[in-house]
This record gives sequence, structure tokens and C-alpha cells, in this order.
Amino acid sequence: MTQNSMQAVAYEVLEQGNNKNVALVWMQNPPVNALSKSVRVGLIAAIEQALSDDSVAAIVISSKQTLFSGGADISEFSGGDFEPPLPKVLDLIENASKPVIAVLNGPAFGGGLEVALSCHYRVTFAANKVGLPEVNLGILPGAGGTQRLPRLAGVAQALDMIVSGRPVAAKKLPGVFDLVVEQAESLLNEAMAFCNKVINDGAIIKRTSEVTIDPNTAPAELFTQYRQGIAKQARGFFAPERCIQAVEAAVSLPFLQGLDREGELFMECMASKEARAQQHFFFAERAASHVKDYDKTTPTRDIRKVGIIGAGTMGGGIAMNFANAGIPVTMLELKQDALDKGLALIRKNYENSAKKGKLSLAQVEERMALLGGSTSYDDLSDVDLVIEAVFEKMSVKQEVFKSLDAVCKPGAILASNTSTLDLDEIAAATTRPQDVIGLHFFSPANVMKLLEVVKGEKTSADVIKTTMMMAKKINKVAVLVGVCFGFVGNRMIESYGREANRLMLEGANPEHVDKVIYDFGMPMGPFTMGDMAGQDIGYFVRQSRQEFIKHDPSYCVIADRLVEQGRVGLKAGKGAYLYAEGSRVPIPDPAVTAIAKQEAERLGVEQRNISDQEILERIIFPLINEGALILEEGIAAKSSDIDVIYVYGYGFPVYRGGPMQYADEIGLKTVYDAMCKYRDELGEHGKNWFKPAPLLKKLAEQGKRFSDL
Ligand code: NAD
Repeated sequence: MTQNSMQAVAYEVLEQGNNKNVALVWMQNPPVNALSKSVRVGLIAAIEQALSDDSVAAIVISSKQTLFSGGADISEFSGGDFEPPLPKVLDLIENASKPVIAVLNGPAFGGGLEVALSCHYRVTFAANKVGLPEVNLGILPGAGGTQRLPRLAGVAQALDMIVSGRPVAAKKLPGVFDLVVEQAESLLNEAMAFCNKVINDGAIIKRTSEVTIDPNTAPAELFTQYRQGIAKQARGFFAPERCIQAVEAAVSLPFLQGLDREGELFMECMASKEARAQQHFFFAERAASHVKDYDKTTPTRDIRKVGIIGAGTMGGGIAMNFANAGIPVTMLELKQDALDKGLALIRKNYENSAKKGKLSLAQVEERMALLGGSTSYDDLSDVDLVIEAVFEKMSVKQEVFKSLDAVCKPGAILASNTSTLDLDEIAAATTRPQDVIGLHFFSPANVMKLLEVVKGEKTSADVIKTTMMMAKKINKVAVLVGVCFGFVGNRMIESYGREANRLMLEGANPEHVDKVIYDFGMPMGPFTMGDMAGQDIGYFVRQSRQEFIKHDPSYCVIADRLVEQGRVGLKAGKGAYLYAEGSRVPIPDPAVTAIAKQEAERLGVEQRNISDQEILERIIFPLINEGALILEEGIAAKSSDIDVIYVYGYGFPVYRGGPMQYADEIGLKTVYDAMCKYRDELGEHGKNWFKPAPLLKKLAEQGKRFSDL
């Protein structure tokens, strides 16, 4: 055996005599075998060496990492060296005069799968997964994936893989793989036997590009139906339609022309603002876990047992996250019946998942077995972390924390799920404020990915690090924030409801406002959202926030009137809209516009026609402005953290990258100028609520972006 290492690609020759040697080409670019420049260069050199060696009869491409390859090196997207481009490497592989066999020892994604598709044979194990996830970054597979996968997997299967980006198990792709072995452990041996069979059978070369697609397998209706099927989830995204067009090209054009078309569509995607936003978001999510408050040397605490105070809406959902991760939970309520009710609701949730086939009945029981209940604080003496989710009232929370302080073991982390209250005041009820932290889950807590981790003035670094790491274990995306009313997410959303109400006072109707916001990409408009959550929730918050709003007599007056008339939203069958019995479909109600008219007259607000643009700017720009204040105050460490909070917590469209990325994209001067315009044109309301944040002003004047900070 001869061996020589070419950095990211190792080359060795398996001597078998009689000119039947096999060249083994190993990709070795940890951690994920990204197809960085060094790998592309290495692959070319290895293939050329194998081709020029007369003793070599076949070439195997594989990896010694856990992944075959995770695909393109995304860090090269912004200004990397693209030479040699991946398609050039794949051309060399596909046109090689000796058979090239891809042995997929682990998952192959994106460019990694494209490498395999350009080989003449593919071998893997049944459970291995492959996919083309480029669509999630706002682009499409640009190295022949859209042309080769339909030729091997079939058009319908390839279309779904390329447009959804979802990985598929190898055993479900018989057209793609020439050999699928059952066990991963036997892969290498069986792959070598397969390779020798190829050599002994005459070293036949099977080029994917030469496979013809039977047009009967891809009628025009297939594409029409697929487009209709994904219309809702693809709303606003740029790449899915281009992915579909690329697969259509695979059907209608010869291979080389299809590749050209794929290239054009790829460039269109790369130049789109949606791709910029999605790629920004990809990095933003990863950057959220890089915080300055701790480092590698900071110790962490073990979390083996968790306590939860309050088995209501949030407590129940939070408990499920831990049970799902195999961590035992003790739930505490003051009364047994409240506890029983909470646990019964959790069981019902799990059983519903089982009915949908997401869990087995055995799994339901396993998870329920991890959930215990108690009405005595003494049962929390050995928990490592306790999360309080009782009523949102300072005196109640302080009482709970005093009790926890008395019973919990030293070093236990004491967390609160408060949405609005001052964490430092809660911590002050204990003798160990360094162990107190906010863990702000979003509802429904077992579903929503976001977790705002709120650090108090005295929270210790190891408590922050432990909870940030724990978030990953329970499958949440954690963002570290500071203490202020509503933290980042709810503080910024304040303007959303306030301006929606004010626009109505000025003459817009709820369905108009909601349509503009829905069309912008939010899952629903502010009035629908208010009805779903319950208009009374905002009402109670306003009651407790009088010092902040009492200077503005028009503040959310319509919402106040709605609640006073019992129009609390969906649960009452009426709110900003009407709802038919058992239906969630909002029906516009003239009675609501009549309330707005009456209130406008009472407050001397002139009603008028309001444009879509004004609605959008008045609802979204103050939210961005609040984000700027949050950055200035250091409540969020970076603008991308705010974007993560908004996409995961509030459904802000990922193809806009989050509010701060959206502002960067349209230009901070645009946002700043509009804030000034509304400040000057909307009278008292403008003066009250459209004061541009100094940071927004500064960056706009300097022609900078939030992401430059
Ligand atoms: P909830 O009313 O559904 O549940 C509160 C539970 O706490 C009730 O079961 C109640 O019996 C119990 N409880 C009250 N006082 C207690 C005490 N002293 N000891 C033990 N148990 C006690 O309320 P929720 O919606 O689950 O909200 C709980 C907390 O979560 C609040 O701080 C709220 O602001 C926060 N939060 C709520 C949401 C949401 O959307 N509902 C989202 C994020 C955060």
C-alpha cells in the first residue's frame, strides 16, 4: 500500500496486483468535511494521480470523518476563493476513464451529495441520510444536484428533496444507490467487494449525465400540483420556485443545457435579498451561543433533576421539554387539584402526539414516568435547577423564591419564567442572587424554539453558561439578554400592538392592517394575534404599566373598549373580529370599526385613508427603533441576537432575516427618515412614539448597518 497525504484529502493505493489496484481518496476536513478550497484542490490532485497510474483500476471516494461531507464551506460565500469551482471537480470525476465509486460512510449534504451523484457508483448503509438543504440558505444546489438527482432518484422524489431541503434515508433512494448495506459497520468490507466486482465486470462507467428521464414520470401536472402544495409554506421565499424551475429544466433540457440553466438560477438566488437574509440568519443562530459572559474555562453545573413551580400553561410545556430530553422533573403546585390538572394536560398533549404517530405509547409512558408532582417545597431539596412559572405578580414570585432559597441545595440554579417582571427584584428575595436567572420560554413552551436567557445584575458566569448549554439539550435556541421590561422580544412587540390600534383610530380597519403585516411575511397580523392570545392579556399588562402610557389618552383605547365589552378574542367568539362557533377564521365586524370611529371623535383624531406603506412602516419601524435602543443599552449584545429572537419567538419571516437585518437591507437611513417623518407629521402621537433612537440616527448618518457594530 502506498500512501501520501494531500492535506484535506488523503490518497492511498490498495495493492491488488494485475493492474487491479484501487485508489482510495479520503476527504478529511474536520469537523464536517466541508468542500473548502483545500478539499477541491485535493480531490482534483487525487483523481488525476489515480488516472495517471496504470496499476489503478478503480477509484473510491470516501471520508474518515463522521460525515461523508456536510457540503459547501459556507464561510467562503462571503468573499472566499471559489477556484477551483466544485462543478469543475465533479466534471473531472464524472468524465474519468476509470470507475469512481462513492462510499458514503456518513451523511452527505449539499455539495457532498453532489460529489456522490457525479461518481459512477454509490454505496452506503440503510440508515444513512442524504439531502440537498441549499434551499434553507436561500439558494439551490449549484453543482449539478438539480440535474443529477432527478436522473437517479426520480423526478418527484428529487423535486421534494431539493425544494424542501429535507434529508432522506438511503434505503428510501434505491435509484441513487447501487448497494445499500444493512449495517454501517460492514460498509467498508462490502464496499471493497463491490468495487472489485465492478473491476472484474469490465470496469463499466455509468455516468449520471447519460441517464435519460422518462417524460411520463414528470408530467406538467406534477409541477403544478407541487407548486400548489407548497404555496403556503413557500410564501415570500425566493429559492423554492427557482429549485422547481431547475428540476423542470432537468426534464426538458439535455444535461449540459440543464446545467447551464441551473447555473443561471443559482446566480439569481445568490443575488437575492432573501438569500442574504437566510444566510445572515444561519450565522446569527450560531452566533447567539457565542457570548462574552463566559469562556472555555468557566465551569458548568450538572443538571440531572429539575423542579418546576406552577403546573399551568407554561409550567406544563416547560416540564415536557425536560421529560423529552430524559431529565426527571418535579412539578409543584399549592393545591393537589391544580397539580392533577396540570399533569393530566401534559398526558393529553403526549397522547395527541402519539395519535399523530410522533410518539409511541411506550414513549408517552416513559415521559410521564419522568414527571412527578408535589405540593411540598421539601421535595425540591435535591433539584439542580428549578424554574418558576407562577402568576405574573411580583409578590407571588418573591414568596416562591423565598421558599426556594430556604429548601434548595447550595448551588441549585433558581430560574424565573417571568415575561415582564424585574429579575433583580426577584433575586433580591433570596440570599443567593448569583444563582438566579431568567429563563423566558415562549408559548407553547414545548413547541417554540426560542429561550431568552435573562442575566440579572448578580447572575454568575457559570449559571449563565450552564443554562445556555442546557438549552441545547432541551432543543431550544437560547439568546442571552439583560433585564428590562419585557426583555428583548416583548419589549419590542409593544409598538406592534400600539401602532396597530392607533392606525385603526386613524381610520384603517383591522383586516387591512392584518393583511399588510401578513403580506410582509408575519404568520398573522396584530389584530388576529391579539384575538388569538386574548385581548385581555394586553389589557392587564396595560393596567400595570400606567406610568408608561398614561400621558397618551389614545394608547390602545380600542383594545381597551373591546375588552370592556367582553370582546376578549377567539375564546369569547369575538374580539377585533367575530368568530363562528368552533371556527378560528376571523370575520370582519362593522361594530369594531364603529368603536374606532366613536373613539376617534371623542379624542379628536381625524380618520383618513391610510396606505399599505404607512401601515407597514408604522408597525415595523418603531420595532426596529426599539431594537436600536436595546442595543445601545446593552440589553442585547448584538443585532443578530435580536433577529434570532424575532424569527424563533415571533415568526418574523426568515427570508427577511429578522427585523435588524431587514433594516440593514432597506437601509438605516430609510428607517431613520421615516421615523422623523412620522414624528413630525403625527402630532402628539408622533412626538410620543416616533423619537428615533440615537444609535439609529448615528448609523444612518454614517451610512452604516446594525451588523457593522
Ligand atoms: P397560568 O395561570 O397558566 O399558570 C400559573 C400556575 O401557577 C397555575 O397553575 C397556578 O395554580 C400556579 N401557581 C400560582 N401561584 C403559585 C404558587 N405560589 N406556588 C405554586 N404554584 C402556583 O400562567 P402561565 O401562562 O403559565 O404563566 C406563568 C408565568 O409564565 C408567568 O410569569 C407568565 O408571565 C410567564 N409566561 C407566560 C407566557 C404565556 O404565553 N402564557 C409566555 C412566557 C412567559
